[in-house]
Amino acid sequence: MPALADIVGQEQALGQLRAALTGARPHHAYLFEGPEGVGKGTAALALAQALNCLRRPSEGCAGCDACLKIRDGLHPDVISFEVLPEKGQAERVRGLLPSLAFAPHEGRARVVVIDPADGLNTTSANVLLKTLEEPPPSTHFVLVSSVATQLLETIRSRCQRVRFRALATEEIAPWLVAHQELSPAAAQSAAELSGGSLGRALALAESDDLSERSRRVDALLVAVGGSDVQRLEAAAEWTGEREESTAALELLWLKLRDVLWRAEGLAGEPLAQSPRNLMLGLRATEEARQAIEGFVNPQLAMEHLLLRLAQLRVMA
Ligand SMILES: [Zn+2]
Repeated sequence: MPALADIVGQEQALGQLRAALTGARPHHAYLFEGPEGVGKGTAALALAQALNCLRRPSEGCAGCDACLKIRDGLHPDVISFEVLPEKGQAERVRGLLPSLAFAPHEGRARVVVIDPADGLNTTSANVLLKTLEEPPPSTHFVLVSSVATQLLETIRSRCQRVRFRALATEEIAPWLVAHQELSPAAAQSAAELSGGSLGRALALAESDDLSERSRRVDALLVAVGGSDVQRLEAAAEWTGEREESTAALELLWLKLRDVLWRAEGLAGEPLAQSPRNLMLGLRATEEARQAIEGFVNPQLAMEHLLLRLAQLRVMA
C-alpha cells in the first residue's frame, strides 16, 4: 500500500493533508469526499501511516513496523470501521467508542476510518456526532464518502473536508504501465473507460479480454445505426453468453457515458447528440444488464436494447 507520496494525482488533497501534518495539529475529523476508486481509502491509511510512522513522521515510509502493520490492518490504533447496512449498526458504532477514551496503545495517534460514512443511518450518525463534538485525545476520524451530500449536515460541519477528484487519463495510463506491466495501448483503453477511477481502471486492466470485449461492444454500436436485420444478427452473437454479455453491457454503459460527457461538452470533442436520449440509453443499457443477470435470455435482451438505442438515435 502506498504512502502519501505514492498516491496517484490528488495534489490538492495531499497538499492539504501535508500542511496539516507538518504544521499545526491535524484536525480531529476529516471528510474524504470524491468519486469511487480515486484513492480516498488509500489516502486514509496513508494518513494513519504518516501520523504513526517511526522513520518519516508526517509523511510515512511504507516500510517501518508501524507502516507495515497499518498496511496489513494489524495496527491496534488504526481502526477501519466498515459501515454495513445492518440492524444493530448503531450498537456497533457505540461499541467502538469506549476504547477511544484511552491513549493510543503503541502509536502516536489513533485513526478511525469510517467507510462509507454515507452508509451510517441517522441513529448511528448521531452516536458518532457526540464523539465528534467532544473528540477523544490523540484520535483522528476519517469519514470516507463518494456521496457526501447524504451525510447529516451536523456531521459534515464537524469535519474538515478534503476533496478528491476524478483522475485524468494521462494520470491513470502511465501508472498502469508502470505498476501493472500493461502495454501502453491496453493501459490507454482501460484509463479512457475508467471514468477517472483508478480502481475501475485496475478492474478493467485485469480483465484479459478487454480488447476483444471492446471490439464486440463496438460492433454492437455499429449495429445500432444499421438495419433491423443487422441488429438481429448482432444480438444473435450473444446467445448463451450470459456472463460475457453482462460484462459487455457494463463496458457499453461506460462507452455511452463517455458519449454523454462529450455531448454535454465535459470531455473530448463535442458531439451533437441529445443528452436526454443518451441518459435514456444508459438506463436501457443498465436495465438490459440487470435483465440478463435476472436470467432473461441474453440474445433477447440485446435485441430489445439495440432496438431501443436505435429509436433513441444513440451513436458512438
Ligand atoms: Zn513508516
